[in-house]
Amino acid sequence: MAVLPIVIYPDPRLRQVSQPVEAITDNIRRLVDDMKETMYATQGAGLASIQIGKPIRLFLLDGMLIDNDSKADAIVLVNPEIISYEGSEEGDEGCLSFPGIFVPITRATRCTVRATNLDNESVEFTGEGIVSRAIQHETDHLNGRLIIDHVGKLKRKLIDRRMRKAEAKTH
Ligand SMILES: [Zn+2]
Repeated sequence: MAVLPIVIYPDPRLRQVSQPVEAITDNIRRLVDDMKETMYATQGAGLASIQIGKPIRLFLLDGMLIDNDSKADAIVLVNPEIISYEGSEEGDEGCLSFPGIFVPITRATRCTVRATNLDNESVEFTGEGIVSRAIQHETDHLNGRLIIDHVGKLKRKLIDRRMRKAEAKTH
């Protein structure tokens, strides 16, 4: 297993629409192992494949979000699709691809996601609060949508400028 570098905004790869996973292969399992290690090393609540540069429809959620057990395994969702939304609430949201940025975003309070797991079984579950938020956030990544798309024009400009400055510094 390996901790992989996270793709940081404004890297254009984050705007790609990820492609469906055709089969659960050993390559996919290895990728998921690396993504788990990367997610825990960076203390993210979730991680989409595109954030490590792989444009496929797959994301992880920290198992702790759902289980409240610090040893809970990550939840792996392949080809996930949100099939229902309920309610709405505002909350601060961050993203591993936007280090240091937190913005208030309105999301559905509850949502149900349908996906395939690594055993090739169809799974469906409903998340509430922070879990619902994480599902919607990661699903956005699969469609090239980012937290910056959920804020007003001015704030968007400010964040964009700040991220480009930070990028310039590291190059
Ligand atoms: Zn994110």
